[in-house]
Amino acid sequence: MITKVMSAARNTNPGVVPPWLQGGYPAGPTAALAPVVVGRDAQGRPVTMNLPDGYVDREQARSEAIVEKVRDFYKGIGVTDAEGADPAAAVEFLPGLNNAEYLSGSSDGTEVDHVHIGIDRTTGRSFNDAEEVVAHEWGHRVINRISNASLSMDPRSEDVAIHESLADTFAAAYDGDDWTMGEDLGEPIRDMANPERLGHPGTMAELNDLMRPGTGFTHPIQIGPGRDDVARGVDGAPILVPDWHAVAGVPNKAASLIGDALGRDTMAQIYLKALRDNVRPGQEIAGLAVATMIASRDLFGADSKELRVTMEAWNAVGVLDDIKGRIDARQAAVGARQIASVIGR
Ligand SMILES: [Zn+2]
Repeated sequence: MITKVMSAARNTNPGVVPPWLQGGYPAGPTAALAPVVVGRDAQGRPVTMNLPDGYVDREQARSEAIVEKVRDFYKGIGVTDAEGADPAAAVEFLPGLNNAEYLSGSSDGTEVDHVHIGIDRTTGRSFNDAEEVVAHEWGHRVINRISNASLSMDPRSEDVAIHESLADTFAAAYDGDDWTMGEDLGEPIRDMANPERLGHPGTMAELNDLMRPGTGFTHPIQIGPGRDDVARGVDGAPILVPDWHAVAGVPNKAASLIGDALGRDTMAQIYLKALRDNVRPGQEIAGLAVATMIASRDLFGADSKELRVTMEAWNAVGVLDDIKGRIDARQAAVGARQIASVIGR
């Protein structure tokens, strides 16, 4: 089986899926439509979608062309072939996929290393229309490579929020002109600079509020090929997780503050170094904050504007306050290494 699935573009939490992301595939283009088999239903019967003649081939070619640009971007910020800028991963346009995703792992002994690009069923538009979504998916591959797959892509793990935020951050550096994801498909899927407008938390206080029981923020995790089974813990109760894309709102907002103050190229350098040196599984949002502070200090110095901006960004979203109970926040002003030793990186 495929051991890791990083479904990326779409908000998978029924509790917070924006209305414009719900509903079936629309009527779509009216000219020269022909049924194309895009999958199988639970009974194994073919599911078809009416698509224009040659559409799938054209979108496949577009996906490949965008991936070339995306790979050039990652090379440009210093990502090596071994770190995921190589062309080994396959990109496949799958019209039946109501999402875009990166898959890694093995399936029946075959190594899986694929980016899949689908169609947004609400708008009927290809995710190729939002190039930053492709950059986000490829970003998952880079993150997976650099972290030696230690950062979990298991949907039960909070590591996924870090994975998502890093992928969004690199995708925003690729995009360059806004902090939204998927806006070219219609309404954006995420807004890094203003996550609150999509109902996502923008501060640790808002996140902690949402994580309280009864808010509807957590939802049962789906498993299985048709994603129609609910994962259950040892006690038989459904496993509930928040939407990690939404949790990523907090670190995303910090990244947007860093990018606005220092430029997105510098932001990308800080996050790439953080990922290489100090992002570790299980370290949560505070750990990502510390990793970027260490990276800023190591790249630019303890007295640098870059370190100050990085610290101020995390402070603005309440992360430094959040870990104040464990450390003296003044240590952050002295250097991030001490913090790292306290929270275990
Ligand atoms: Zn993602």
